[in-house]
Formats: sequence, C-alpha cells, structure tokens
Amino acid sequence: MNFYDRRNQLVAVLEYRTLKERAMLGARRLLSLNLKKGDRVALIAETSTGFVEAFFACQYAGLIAVPLAIPMGVGQRDSYIAKLQGLIHSCNPAAIISGEEWIPLISSVTANAQQLHILSDDDFRALPAQDRELHLPAPDDIAYLQYTSGSTRFPRGVIITHRAAMSNLHAISHDGIKLRAGDRCVSWLPFYHDMGLVGFMLTPVATQLSVDYLRTQDFAMRPLQWLKLISKNHGTVSVAPPFGYDLSLRRASEKELAELDLSSWRVAGVGAEPIPAELLSQFGEHFSQVNFNKNAFMPCYGLAENTLAVSFSEANSGSQVNEVDRDILEYEGKAVAPGKNTRAVSTFVNCGKALPGHHIEIRNELGAVLPDRQVGQIYISGPSLMNGYFRDAASQEEIQSTGWMDTGDLGYLLNGYLYVTGRKKDLIIIRGRNIWPQDIEYVAESEPEIRSGDSIAFVNEEHDEGAKIILQVQCRVTSEERREQIVHSLTARIQSEFGVAVDIVLLPPHSIPRTSSGKPARAEAKKRYLTEAIGAPLQLAGFAQ
Ligand code: ATP
Ligand code: MG
Repeated sequence: MNFYDRRNQLVAVLEYRTLKERAMLGARRLLSLNLKKGDRVALIAETSTGFVEAFFACQYAGLIAVPLAIPMGVGQRDSYIAKLQGLIHSCNPAAIISGEEWIPLISSVTANAQQLHILSDDDFRALPAQDRELHLPAPDDIAYLQYTSGSTRFPRGVIITHRAAMSNLHAISHDGIKLRAGDRCVSWLPFYHDMGLVGFMLTPVATQLSVDYLRTQDFAMRPLQWLKLISKNHGTVSVAPPFGYDLSLRRASEKELAELDLSSWRVAGVGAEPIPAELLSQFGEHFSQVNFNKNAFMPCYGLAENTLAVSFSEANSGSQVNEVDRDILEYEGKAVAPGKNTRAVSTFVNCGKALPGHHIEIRNELGAVLPDRQVGQIYISGPSLMNGYFRDAASQEEIQSTGWMDTGDLGYLLNGYLYVTGRKKDLIIIRGRNIWPQDIEYVAESEPEIRSGDSIAFVNEEHDEGAKIILQVQCRVTSEERREQIVHSLTARIQSEFGVAVDIVLLPPHSIPRTSSGKPARAEAKKRYLTEAIGAPLQLAGFAQ
C-alpha cells in the first residue's frame, strides 16, 4: 500500500507483511484496555497507514471497527459536530482512535461519555501490548460497522460480518472487476465510505495487489492528481462516483493533458450515484487523446447494506446505455424504446447483472415481481447482505426472515441487466407524474459554470400554486447580468423539456448539503429550504435523528 501526498510524492509504504505484524501488535495493545469481544472501536482517520493498522488490529482483537468521517469541507464544522454526536450515540464505542489534530474536537463532542478511551495514533502505539493469544474471528462474527452515506436520512450502521465481507470481496475481485496478477489499484476515495473501504482497502489486501492512495481532500483541491497518479504508476483499476470524473474533466488543461498517458487504465469503475451517460461519453472522448480506453468504463451498482457491490457491468465493454421514452417512463413507469411519437428521451446506463450468488428483483408496492422494462423497487438478496442495522432489531428480523432487502432505489431489469432510475425518496411526484430529480439537475449542469453536484432539485408540496419543483444551484458567478441569464435560460429549458414550472434559486458556493462521501442530500436541502421559507432560523444540525 502506497500513500501519496498532494504533489504525488510517495510519503509512506505499508507492506502486507508489515501490516499483519503491526495489526497483531495493535490487537495486543487494544486488549490492554480491557475491552470485551464485540465492543466498538471508532476510527476517525485520514487515508493513512494508521487507519489500516487500527482496522486490522480490531479484527485480531475481536473488536468491531467503525470507520467514521473526518471533518471536511469549508464551513461545515457545526454540521460535522452534530453528525459525529449522532454517530457516536448510535455505535456507542468503547474507544476512538483518531489523528492528533482532531482529538480536542472529539473530546469536546464526547465530553459526557463514560469509560470511553480517546486515543491519538501515538497514544495507541504507546499502549502496553498484552502477551495474549489472538483468536481468528468466526465467519459470523461482526467485522465492522459501515455507516451509510446519509443521502436520504441520518446514516445508519450496517452490520458486516466476516462472511458477508469475504463473499463480497470474492465477488468483486473474481467476478466483477476480474482482478489479475500485476493489477495496480489507485484510489482517492475515503476509507469511511464503503467504496473506499471495501473497494480499495479490503480488496487489495484480500488479493495482495498494489494500491496507491491519494487523500480525498487532495483530490478535491487538485482533481488531476488522480489521473496523473494513474499515468505515472501505470495504474490499472480505479473507481469513482460520477462527480470524480466530472471534476477531472473540467480541470484538465491542455498542458496537463499532454503529461498524461492513461493507456494502462483497464477498469474505470463508476457508481455510487446515478450515472450521467453524457458525462462518460465526454470524459471518454476528451481523454482518448491521452490513450484512455472508453471500454474501460465499468458502471456498477452497490450499497453499504450489501457490503458494497451488487452488480458490475461486463469487463471491457464500456458504458452501455438504454434509451427510453421519457413520457411513458414518467406517466406509466415503463422503460420503452423511443418511437415515432417520442417527445423526449431518458438515457440510463447499464449497471450489469447481479454478481454470482446474488440476486436482484424488481417489485411493485405490493411485493409482486415485475417483468423486464417495468420500473419498480430494487430488492436484493445474497451472501453479501448485511445482518441488519446495528441496534435495530426490526431490520435484523426482517432481513433474517426474508433474506431480501428493499434498497430504497427504483429501477428496471432488461435481460438480467440492471438500470437504476433513482431513489424512491427523491422522486418528484407532480400530478401523478414521476420526475427524476437528476434529469432536472442535468439541465442545470449543462451550463458552463455549473459542475456536477452544484445543483439539487426537489419538490415543494407546500407552494402556493401547488406542488412546485425547486432547483437550487450554487455558483461563483457574480455578474448580475449572467446570473439573470442563467435563471432565465434554466427556467425556459426546464419548462420546454419537462413542461413544468420551476423556481430557480441561486446560492453561493458550498451551500448545497452533501454527505461525507460527496453525495447530494436532497432531503436535507429540502428541509433547509422549507425551514427558511417559513422564516424559522436555519438549522445546521444535520438530519433529524
Ligand atoms: P443513505 O442510505 O444513508 O441515505 P446512501 O444510500 O447514499 O445513503 P450508500 O450505501 O453509500 O448510502 O450508497 C448506496 C446508494 O447509492 C444506492 O442505494 C443508490 O441510491 C446509490 N447508487 C449506487 N450506485 C448507483 C448507480 N450505479 N446508479 C444510481 N445510484 C446508485
Ligand atoms: Mg441507502
């Protein structure tokens, strides 16, 4: 495992042999705290050797690791603190290990907690190692808790057993990505998000492949460092949400482009959010100049509740799309190929078939399984499925008795291939018609100043004129004239493309609430908007718990 700084200079190397030694030593140190099997150890750390060592120390000590987000982002301290309090309350850890710089903040947040050990990396390394035998975990022991991103509600702690983790790791590496000797992974995804943890920490360890890490905030500041690292190290496998591709595409200057050679990149995974087909074609087109192979795109679908991955599209076949008639989709919930009378087209990216041993069904509200092309709720089952949410008996009972889970996502199947249309909770329903918020947001993002993730759409059911779509757009544009132009052009385009009225609200940068993994939090945006609209003070406290 190689850790790079923001200039792409190698700053730390952790060999797997050393990791094993340090993890076993770390386990003996943790045991000196007299923790019980199954106690939680929260890890609040950067992408660092310390995180990886502590995570595996927990495994050898029979403790449950709980990766939690680090403070990130401008002006988000208050909402971070509120969120951290909620997370700590939820997992009730016996110890927290974190970077030295965050210890004061964590101590203030946890001031009332009793018998909680708060340790910096150095404190952790200074604990006396117990001379005790370490037991390997059993398959049904809990390995770690994975908090969901918190896109639609306060994050929930997903219970991941060793059995679930191992089955998903096998499916990802053997059946999904089809990793092979000589592969080199590159990642800037945070370790507290399932895509970073399972995809780029556990998978390389399980397959003993090389992995190069950039810190997430370094990527956010200088997105091109990601592609430069792939180019420099001949990286072969890297995955990112769509906004990662979007940021890189926007920042690539001609000069920087000339320094890149992306020919080694054979798997460019993309998922975690709805995938804009147009973005992938633009990225593919642009970077083909520096030997990016468009067939490397590998759209995938997954969620924390299934450890990580549910489906991957086929290797080396690029982004395959399905075009459907948008009116039929919105009014009848059917994904029908466009015909002579089609007014508008929606394009969905093929996210592949369920991984072997895993299953996907599309069901209606009554639980009946729907045929191909019929949009419904995406249900999943299989060996990677969680045992339920932590300290939530109802969810555990439900999963264990049925073996299936409602993902909260909507989509359709076509010849076994999954197409995700969006989240059920985010769907905008206006007079019996279903509008996907991302379709409205894509319109905003086609304005040159507006990046992927800079806009968010939701419905205001309490509007005086009846349910109305609100489109919030954050942008740096200061010219009054240009701001008016943007509002005018978006209003007109949305009216003509969707036949609906919309209120456009321009906001300063960093106004749109996002999850710690960078996803738009539409429910939170709507809550803030409505709170402001009725004149109440703006709540920054994050989600209702
Ligand atoms: P929360 O459950 O806390 O509201 P979250 O669902 O964003 O947050 P994650 O488990 O990290 O938390 O993300 C999984 C979700 O991401 C999926 O349920 C789905 O909504 C979305 N997603 C993942 N892959 C895709 C994809 N290929 N296309 C569309 N959406 C996707
Ligand atoms: Mg979810």
